[in-house]
Amino acid sequence: MDKVSARVPVVHLQAIKRSYNIGTPSEIEILHGIDLDLHRGEFLALMGPSGSGKSTLLNIIGLLDRATSGHVFINGTDTASLGDAAITRLRGHAIGFVFQEHHLISAFTALENVMMPMIVDRDFASSAIRERAAALLEKMGLAHVADHMASNMSGGEQQRVAIARALAMRASLILADEPTGNLDSQSADTVLELMRQVNKDEGTSFLIVTHNLELAQKCDRIITLADGALVTG
Ligand code: ADP
Ligand code: MG
Repeated sequence: MDKVSARVPVVHLQAIKRSYNIGTPSEIEILHGIDLDLHRGEFLALMGPSGSGKSTLLNIIGLLDRATSGHVFINGTDTASLGDAAITRLRGHAIGFVFQEHHLISAFTALENVMMPMIVDRDFASSAIRERAAALLEKMGLAHVADHMASNMSGGEQQRVAIARALAMRASLILADEPTGNLDSQSADTVLELMRQVNKDEGTSFLIVTHNLELAQKCDRIITLADGALVTG
């Protein structure tokens, strides 16, 4: 990667505001003007009380939702200038998601779940898809259960499959919304360690929403959202 692109933040937010119920008596502004840079290769924790707007912000960064005003730059591209098709493509190729609920297809095996984004995208040669999915599962320590049904796996294993799936398209950014929220502390540690390893090995940037301070302290930096604004500290 050349020096210029290495300096362009993966995410650059300018004055992001998000309101709900616009034009009705219950109109409410949830995000009050968020500025944020997420640097290439950074492993960032986002904390804040329930209802402070963390998921709203993550969904805007992940191009699943549009801000009411302000700009989201992904790898230097101002997404406000993009149409729906370009947004979908950028989301599919640049961003991987891991949620609190794994969102795996329970009737598919672990391997099939990881293959799915590559099959849907059609940019990958079909012979390469199975191989890449198997390699990603191996990286997550799941080679031995690649053919198990997702529904029969433990919560920790399911989250590791979800991480492998998020990595399938070679995203430069992984957004994880309380990825360890449903896990016991040992599984949570394993999941965090695996994300950290991917971050170190591949330079993938991570933004992880968590309520777990111990886990957040293992990240490069912690930012905190309170009442729809970032508090520095
Ligand atoms: P967090 O993830 O920090 O718990 P959220 O981003 O989910 O917070 O929610 C922030 C606030 O926005 C909450 O008060 C929530 O009720 C409200 N909210 C979220 N989604 C909607 C929606 N679609 N319509 C109205 N209010 C919403
Ligand atoms: Mg949330």
